[in-house]
Amino acid sequence: VVDLGMPDRTVLTTCAYCGVGCSFKAELRGDQLVRMVPHKDGGANEGHSCVKGRFAFGYADHPDRQLSPMMRDSIDDEWRPVGWEEALTEVARRFSALRSEHGPGAIGGITSSRTTNEEVYAVQKMVRGAFGNNNVDTCARVCHSPTGYGLNQTFGTSAGTQTFSSVEHSDVIMVIGANPTDAHPVFASRMKRRLRAGAKLIVADPRRIDLVRSPHVEAEHHLPLQPGSNVALINAMAHTVVTEGLVDQEFLDARCEGQDEYLEFIRGPENAPEALEEVIGVDADRIRAAARLFATGGSSAIYYGLGVTEHSQGSTMVMGLANLAMLTGNVGREGVGVNPLRGQNNVQGSCDMGSFPHELPGYRHIGTESVREIYESLWGTTLDPDPGLRIPNMFDAAVDGTFRGLFVQGEDIAQSDPNTHHVEAALSALDCLVVQDLFLNETARFAHIFLPGTSFLEKDGTFTNAERRINRVRPTMPPRTGKHEWQVVAEIAARMGFAMNWERSADIMDEIAATTPTFAGVSFAHLDRVGSVQWPCNEAAPLGTPTMHVGSFVRGKGRLMKTVYVPTLERSTRRYPLILTTGRILSQYNVGAQTRRTANSSWHAEDVLEIHPHDAEDRGITDGALVEVASRVGTTRLHARISDRMPVGVVYTTFHHPESGANVVTTENSDWATNCPEYKVTAVQVAPALRA
Ligand code: SF4
Repeated sequence: VVDLGMPDRTVLTTCAYCGVGCSFKAELRGDQLVRMVPHKDGGANEGHSCVKGRFAFGYADHPDRQLSPMMRDSIDDEWRPVGWEEALTEVARRFSALRSEHGPGAIGGITSSRTTNEEVYAVQKMVRGAFGNNNVDTCARVCHSPTGYGLNQTFGTSAGTQTFSSVEHSDVIMVIGANPTDAHPVFASRMKRRLRAGAKLIVADPRRIDLVRSPHVEAEHHLPLQPGSNVALINAMAHTVVTEGLVDQEFLDARCEGQDEYLEFIRGPENAPEALEEVIGVDADRIRAAARLFATGGSSAIYYGLGVTEHSQGSTMVMGLANLAMLTGNVGREGVGVNPLRGQNNVQGSCDMGSFPHELPGYRHIGTESVREIYESLWGTTLDPDPGLRIPNMFDAAVDGTFRGLFVQGEDIAQSDPNTHHVEAALSALDCLVVQDLFLNETARFAHIFLPGTSFLEKDGTFTNAERRINRVRPTMPPRTGKHEWQVVAEIAARMGFAMNWERSADIMDEIAATTPTFAGVSFAHLDRVGSVQWPCNEAAPLGTPTMHVGSFVRGKGRLMKTVYVPTLERSTRRYPLILTTGRILSQYNVGAQTRRTANSSWHAEDVLEIHPHDAEDRGITDGALVEVASRVGTTRLHARISDRMPVGVVYTTFHHPESGANVVTTENSDWATNCPEYKVTAVQVAPALRA
């Protein structure tokens, strides 16, 4: 860390990394950021921070940063720097031409969970108002879309139930498919404090993550389930609760529906732990013991991550978690609930802001006439009532030639989305790809127009964290590019004949509040007064809502859903006998575009493949050896790390570096309800690489 001297001013803002949403005081000397100091009154972090939020901000003025728009006729040409006027006019001309020639359905946009609520709202408005369709999707498609579907079906809203501080009231904490120590470190510390004070821990994860055994914390139960067997596990736990008489019948009778059908289903012998233990890879006795602890241990809370959602049954599993919480009466008070740990800083917000092809802001279906009318009268246009294309459908349609133009804001789809070869084929087929980003990322290799984006130090807006907390992001300096991202979007829309009429970012939040009931009480002025609020924030709850579903569920009665276990199509075979699963490390962030451009990039210079000693020995692989990882869709190379954290037959890597390209091997399999990719289960073979 370089000491840049004493600061002369301070700006209160929000970390732009993970979904914990820590509040920081950015201390500046002139325009130079000297230090990030965690804010002791920050609602999510109370003065704590992790290494990324505190030190990994150097990317904001990294020399790779692009500050001017650029254009080229074809992706084989060199980039040509141009002014904003020329770039925006050309973007509008090309999208307008594609719209006229091929119809409005031929163009669309992708929003990011790294940008602000206001920037996301602007893109979905541009697509709906100027492009004339609902071909807008968020990168949350590839992470937490099953959370949106599953929690909406069961509880009536697409968000976690608790505030982070709720964990301080838990007696039993179940962590499934999440590695908070690496991915949500500040919340992990809070959780560990509670565990050290006596709460019991259940970890369900194929990998022996740090939380299983760390100083003064030891899980009561670690269930190292086979990747792809989540639904079998949750059904076996629910079966135990139901058949051993551990149901909170009073809660079920008073607050839930669908009881008879669900209970008959879950009692079935096919859901018994003894029937599923082979599939799950964990003894029935251990599954039963974990279920008993969850049901009888007091206030039990579930925290989960992408190890739940990124499966072919991701949505089913989210509903399974909700079922378990309802069966045991663990919803609607402190210390309990079903809590998605969101990866990026604004996953929750990017979903809230209507950047799904079937939903307007606030999760209201585009087919509902009364909701469309709100926007039609305010925007002075007619909205298409039919849902648009999801991201994977955009790729398929681009390859087919029916989808011709794409606007991508703050998301590196060429690196982060599965089956890289297919994504690259789709991007190469587009007539016009516009990328708005800080850097010339992997996706920009296929772009015709590049529009420079702003870092969190220049943004003026809000992020919404994993506990629905809307935090202010305040600029420490004007945009180094000359324009805010929402301004760029509004200017493209205006050139396509659709005026957005905003002068400041605060005007966008005012429009969101005027049209979205859960945000009705939110404004920049209100946030400046109270610090932050958790939605719903409206007349009934002016200071927000820390705990959801108190007394009744948002949908009235909670709905128990049948969760039939269907094995994934992705099975190990003689040719691909191992299962690859993926995750993150503490010092890197997603595709690494930011963290790799900070002083900490040397801490983890590459992605590595963790492999069990038996699997390594079978293949003649030594620690540190270069290995080839092959799946049915592609091959990549990584260095091996021999580790007994993994069970035999399962290997693990991260996806922070473009060179190793983990997504070259991940497949097109996806969640049945939402198309969230099945990143967590890929059948692979691993062998020593023949040449370095
Ligand atoms: Fe930033 Fe997340 Fe670390 Fe908090 S825990 S400082 S939000 S990366």
